[in-house]
Amino acid sequence: MQSFATLELIDPLLRAVSELGYGEPTPIQVQAIPPLLAGRDVLGCAQTGTGKTAAFALPILQHLTTQRRTTVQRKVRALVLSPTRELAAQIAESFDTYGRNLELRTTVVFGGVSARPQADALSGGVDILVATPGRLLDLARQGLVDLRHVAHFVLDEADRMLDLGFVDDIQRVLELLPPRRQNLLFSATMPLAIGDLASSFLRDPVRVAVTPRATTVELVDQRVMYVERGNKRRLLTDLVNRGEVAQAIVFTRTRHGANRLVEQLERAGIRAAALHSDKSQGARESALDGFKSGDFPLLVATDIAARGIDVEGVSHVFNYDIPNEPENYVHRIGRTGRAGRGGVAVAFCDPSEGELLRGIEALTGRKLTVVTDHPWHCGAAIPPPTLNARKQPAPPPRPRDYGPRKGKGAARRRR
Ligand code: AMP
Repeated sequence: MQSFATLELIDPLLRAVSELGYGEPTPIQVQAIPPLLAGRDVLGCAQTGTGKTAAFALPILQHLTTQRRTTVQRKVRALVLSPTRELAAQIAESFDTYGRNLELRTTVVFGGVSARPQADALSGGVDILVATPGRLLDLARQGLVDLRHVAHFVLDEADRMLDLGFVDDIQRVLELLPPRRQNLLFSATMPLAIGDLASSFLRDPVRVAVTPRATTVELVDQRVMYVERGNKRRLLTDLVNRGEVAQAIVFTRTRHGANRLVEQLERAGIRAAALHSDKSQGARESALDGFKSGDFPLLVATDIAARGIDVEGVSHVFNYDIPNEPENYVHRIGRTGRAGRGGVAVAFCDPSEGELLRGIEALTGRKLTVVTDHPWHCGAAIPPPTLNARKQPAPPPRPRDYGPRKGKGAARRRR
């Protein structure tokens, strides 16, 4: 079995991972760390939840520490591009955490907030810069960031970058980098367009891949509850009120749906916050912070906003609306069952969503466990929508264990 020590990491990094309680490296770390330490370019197929941030952050931190700085002032020597602000902030936090025993500085820049503090941080000198493409280019245009010393470049979540239309921005960033550098590209999926992008800047890359779909899908206890649309809110409230949901992310299809659900939950006495792209940066941060610190148990999110969010102790993911894209289902349920821990994903399927559910089962190759013993079960045969669905009486709920399997009490992980 591989250990972090056999990966030839330097002592301050070994201490950091041990302080974090990491027992052994994850498969993506075992595959990626040695070639990255050897200076190779890497093309990685892995999604968040597999430990991929440490897979690239640890070798980069090691390179930056062991290579002497050629300038007196700190210059950006590692650049990580990320598609969303939340993910960028999280990656920067990971660099700080893994590099806690080193003397390196990390800064994150993203849009939606004032550029001034970011420019100030840059002018003070940083070693590692994590950025979303738009803000990085804005700062570069104003001459507020110098990328001429970048020796390690990471493009993270490349598939999402392309989905969000960042391809031209990425090319513009690449033009600002010096030609001699180590390049890393990580993507959860590998469509042809990613192959094209990869071959445009990776040199003879080592390919590493983990099978996130299988890992996530197998670790998460996946259930479906058939319920009329009008009863979904009651079902959710009931499950939360049973006290077995420590921390849950609830996915809705629309931003409006997320806002409305938060209002309804608050009226039912359940604290929740919405996370979606209509919210200001400040509101998004306070939603995420409040959720992370356990101030409120529910985060109601849309797909893009929640992509890459890494909160330890998420016991449940509720697919309040079944996603239109089966791929998004896999991303959603990956918010629980992080790095080898169990978790529960519950899909609320109304009669109009049966087809979407079948698409998901076809993609993951697994049948969801049907849970029928809840008060609003509307039959696995999925009857056509009824007009009076809302008038159904609400029978008293029966107790049932909705917690994660194998005795991993959700409350135990609460901070
Ligand atoms: P990532 O895929 O980078 O988003 O990481 C997912 C989660 O796995 C994070 O909470 C990390 O702290 C955690 N993690 C990363 N590497 C390990 C490891 N070797 N052992 C245990 N947890 C890990």
